[in-house]
Amino acid sequence: MKKPKNTSSPSNVLRYLWGCAGATIVLTSILSWWLLSGSWQAWNSAKNDVTQFDNFYLVLRVSNDLASERAYANELVLSPLETKTKAWQALQTSRQLTDSDLNKIPANLLSQALMAATVDQLQRSRQSIDYYQDKVLKDPIKAQSAINEMVAATDFYHEALFQHTSAFLMLEPSALGPILRAQALGELRDATGRLGSQLLIPLATHMPIPLHNNEALSRGMERIDVLWWLLRTQGEEAGFLPGFPQRLETVRHQFEKQGVALIKTLQAESEKGMVYSVNADSFALSYHGSLTSFNELLDTYLKGVRKHYVSAKQEALLHLLMVVAILGVLCLLTIGMIYYIRTRVLQPILRLNQITTGIIAGHHQDALMDESTAEEVQELFSSLGTLGNKLREQTQLSKMLQRQSEEDPLTHLFNRRAFDALAGSLLAKANRDHPAWLIMIDVDRFKSINDTWGHPTGDKVLVALATTLMKFSRPGDVIARLGGEEFGVMFRTQGHEDIAGYTSRIQNEIRRLRFEGPKGEAFSITASFGVAYGWQRELSEVIAEADARLYEAKNSGRDRVCGLPENR
Ligand code: GH3
Ligand code: MG
Ligand code: MG
Repeated sequence: MKKPKNTSSPSNVLRYLWGCAGATIVLTSILSWWLLSGSWQAWNSAKNDVTQFDNFYLVLRVSNDLASERAYANELVLSPLETKTKAWQALQTSRQLTDSDLNKIPANLLSQALMAATVDQLQRSRQSIDYYQDKVLKDPIKAQSAINEMVAATDFYHEALFQHTSAFLMLEPSALGPILRAQALGELRDATGRLGSQLLIPLATHMPIPLHNNEALSRGMERIDVLWWLLRTQGEEAGFLPGFPQRLETVRHQFEKQGVALIKTLQAESEKGMVYSVNADSFALSYHGSLTSFNELLDTYLKGVRKHYVSAKQEALLHLLMVVAILGVLCLLTIGMIYYIRTRVLQPILRLNQITTGIIAGHHQDALMDESTAEEVQELFSSLGTLGNKLREQTQLSKMLQRQSEEDPLTHLFNRRAFDALAGSLLAKANRDHPAWLIMIDVDRFKSINDTWGHPTGDKVLVALATTLMKFSRPGDVIARLGGEEFGVMFRTQGHEDIAGYTSRIQNEIRRLRFEGPKGEAFSITASFGVAYGWQRELSEVIAEADARLYEAKNSGRDRVCGLPENR
């Protein structure tokens, strides 16, 4: 005969539990992987932002270095013999800074062709400028061309810078605002420097400003206006560079008051054919001086933005570490829980099952149970035993509370509330063959018993009456103390049963009860009965009728029964 498959055997349950645990582990792993990879990517992207921005910083710094070198070169070209050495030294220092910053730019970061062109042009322009190391300007055309060569070197470099900015923005579009504004700051420094270059030769040669230079000055001013406008737009850096807009405005006012005003004065003097109020040498110096705040502005901006990127990187790292720590703790907790359930719950159950199966198959218990198994099984049983006891206690307590809510504490009969519920359901079961009856019993002149013999004796009478009623009751009868010294008995009968005989037996038993007062004084009691028939009636109707009959019994002399079927 084929053995039926036991689907709920412990080994199946265990397999099912392991399956659930496995699925939970797989799901948790997928979720963890998703969380971890998200945080890892965020951290990597923040790290990349910092690297990219550092590179951008280096590239932009060279642009600034070139603008400064150009200013020092101009100063050398225009300087008189007595200040040549000083101007030459300043230029050398500036060239060293340019070269050292140029070397810091990582290879392949900028277009190699444009970088080669920049370096080449820079060398050429430096050679032309070198001529003025110990010679004063004589040939304005030669001097202008030396100045222009330096501007051309800057142009090549700016081309490379634009290419790099576009590439950076393609990689990190969210950096658009800060990068554009940083680039604009670099451009501003370059554009303001170029304005000055247009005036140097006319000033040195005491000639009016040529048309071509005037046009270049207007274009330069327009370019500077656009850059100011661009810089005034504020992006997310408003949050991490709070004082920057005010600083920008201050520099702008200063430049307009000094640099632009000076240029305008010289333009007006040139137009009127007047002698210039400043010479080329001092113009170069003072104009160059008015541009230093642009360098500081760019530096502040770049440092502020970089700081923001670095703190974003640190936040991303902290987030990653927190995710790793939380997932690690969760993982350890899960492993611990699985281990606990396996060793403390599943294994004892499994062994118990083995032992039970072995004993059923006739093996000796000792052969199946080693000491540790016995201990585990014992522990499991003891826990189950404790649980069982607790459940029993709880059940007893709730039964007791239920009983208390239904019981009259003096007589231990049902109280009025329980009577209504139980009598109601008994009445609902009544039918023609088995109608229900309600007998209401009230002790006669009970008040005088209390008054004569005291309240405790009155209580004893009530308890004795309850005992008498219980003595005459049958299973299924509902006996209750309805209030004070009034009792109710509801029961179902065979239609022809002798209700009169039943009530008379109770009445006689009550008459026979003997009581003693506090000093041994003997007395007895009587009671009045109101009987009502219950079928196809509401409980309230039945109670009202029994009450009316009881009233009738009281009024007609007490110690009697009213409402019996033969009297109806
Ligand atoms: P009647 O024959 O008309 O029924 O007169 P009675 O004195 O029995 O009726 P009454 O309603 O005037 O008095 C009932 C008394 O029952 C008054 C009350 O003090 C007393 N009583 C009510 N509950 C208790 C109780 O729990 N213990 C005791 N000892 N007396 C109670
Ligand atoms: Mg009474
Ligand atoms: Mg009464």
